[in-house]
Amino acid sequence: MSCSQCQNEVPFIKIKVPQNLKEAIITAKSAVESGCLVYRGMGNFADPFKSIASGSGWGDFVSNYFTCASCGQWFHLHAETYHGSGGALERIPSQPQNIQNDAY
Ligand SMILES: [Zn+2]
Repeated sequence: MSCSQCQNEVPFIKIKVPQNLKEAIITAKSAVESGCLVYRGMGNFADPFKSIASGSGWGDFVSNYFTCASCGQWFHLHAETYHGSGGALERIPSQPQNIQNDAY
């Protein structure tokens, strides 16, 4: 489930090229800053969202998790940049198991 707040502020973004990833990072960052999303942590082999959101670039794997502050919907920002196979900023059904906490 999701609410009107996160539906408005966090659209689904398909990531195919680096420009899409940039757009997805900016979308997630501004949603966190506006209080819509809460940053929850990163996935395996990923970089902390702090370093990605600061504009210092990203590694081979982008995997960061968020929840909506009002409805609790989980979001996953993920991309596989090394092979360029892409990724997405998308809703996921439940909390992932491999999540690692890092501060943002
Ligand atoms: Zn919501």
